[in-house]
Amino acid sequence: MTTAEDLRARVGEFLAAHDPKTTDRLEFLRARFDAGLAWVHYPAGLGGLDAARELQSVVDGEFAAAGAPDNNPRRIGIGLGMAAPTILRFGTEEQRKRYLRPLWTGEEVWCQLFSEPGAGSDLAALGTRAVRDGDEWVVTGQKVWTSVAHLARFAILVTRTDPDVPKHQGMTYFVCDMTAPGVDVRPLRQLTGEAEFNEVFLEGVRVPDANRLGAVGEGWKVAQTTLMNERVAIGGQASPREGGLIGILAKTWREHPELRTPDLHERLVRLWADAETARLAASRLRQQLAVGAPGPEGSAMKLAFARLQQEMTGLEIELAGADGLRYDDWTMTRPERVDMLGRGPGYRYLRAKGNSIEGGTSEVLRNIIAERVLGLPSEPRVDKDVAWKDLPR
Ligand SMILES: Cc1cc2nc3c(=O)[nH]c(=O)nc-3n(C[C@H](O)[C@H](O)[C@H](O)COP(=O)(O)OP(=O)(O)OC[C@H]3O[C@@H](n4cnc5c(N)ncnc54)[C@H](O)[C@@H]3O)c2cc1C
Repeated sequence: MTTAEDLRARVGEFLAAHDPKTTDRLEFLRARFDAGLAWVHYPAGLGGLDAARELQSVVDGEFAAAGAPDNNPRRIGIGLGMAAPTILRFGTEEQRKRYLRPLWTGEEVWCQLFSEPGAGSDLAALGTRAVRDGDEWVVTGQKVWTSVAHLARFAILVTRTDPDVPKHQGMTYFVCDMTAPGVDVRPLRQLTGEAEFNEVFLEGVRVPDANRLGAVGEGWKVAQTTLMNERVAIGGQASPREGGLIGILAKTWREHPELRTPDLHERLVRLWADAETARLAASRLRQQLAVGAPGPEGSAMKLAFARLQQEMTGLEIELAGADGLRYDDWTMTRPERVDMLGRGPGYRYLRAKGNSIEGGTSEVLRNIIAERVLGLPSEPRVDKDVAWKDLPR
């Protein structure tokens, strides 16, 4: 079994052969992937060493200490957090080899073509049609809220391939080339002023059958893997003690003794304790995760994450007093990543509103926890046995 010591030794050898100061960034990242030091819990030959997932922090720490370039994880979060584990679990050997390396190095950005105007929480209602034509599928429909589609080379795409069976059964999952003819990406301006996400129109887009992930009609099963991983990617991120937003809040508090009232102090301390609990719970969750297959506990982490982000950014605005009412950032840009820590309190406050919607709304996550963790009776589902084409829309 690979130990932390083994990994430190491997990173040392790697750095001796690839000096981060003189090696080209992309060359360095590709070589790191080939050495199995990209995501150590992935299989050997695919950027990993079949090691325990929690050892990743050892490797990342060693590279960071040596001043090595990273793969800009926040820019390529959808690829790393959602597309990669799905490809690993459902992709063929050929697909894994083709996609995972440039995904990890950040050469190819990925986006997620799931939500539609009529299908968000109820994703299985989606209507984007894929019709088989020889070795290809012809895809027509509209997706919405697609983060970073404007940067993406590939998308993970769920489609309706059989409208005559109940909604969960007639879906198929593909990798879609975002540069293919018929893909039209249009910006959607958000509360923050910028357009981090998009609407995506698909008009007769030809997707080779070789790009299918999983069997025809099994898209729901494949999509579940993506969604479970998405919740862990959003809610289960690693951070140091008093890192992230709670660190910013605590710093503001320390630097402004004039703000100290017993009420604010109590709220800050409660949030600090909640943030620390969430951090430790996320760390335990990551340790327990088998690659590619997290369970419903990721939903609980994502739910807690959204609540905390919104409460912390709200308190930060209050601490800013009258200045908290100002927002000077309302400029239309097409950002490459969500930068909560690098931007101002106003941006953080507004952007955090999306945390309880993206990756599954808090209401839907509560349903999942109620049914799958607590074993409470499930919501009535009257459309389970009705063909998708006969559902009211
Ligand atoms: C910042 C951001 C980024 C996003 N990025 C992407 C992306 O890259 N790709 C992508 O495909 N999607 C993306 N989304 C879309 C996101 O997944 C959906 O917005 C989300 O799933 C909710 O769907 P909806 O907007 O259609 O709302 P609806 O499903 O219409 O929900 C409306 C309201 O009804 C509630 N509700 C719905 N069903 C139930 C229920 N059964 N029980 C109780 N309450 C219920 C919801 O909680 C919500 O409050 C993004 C969203 C945001 C905010």
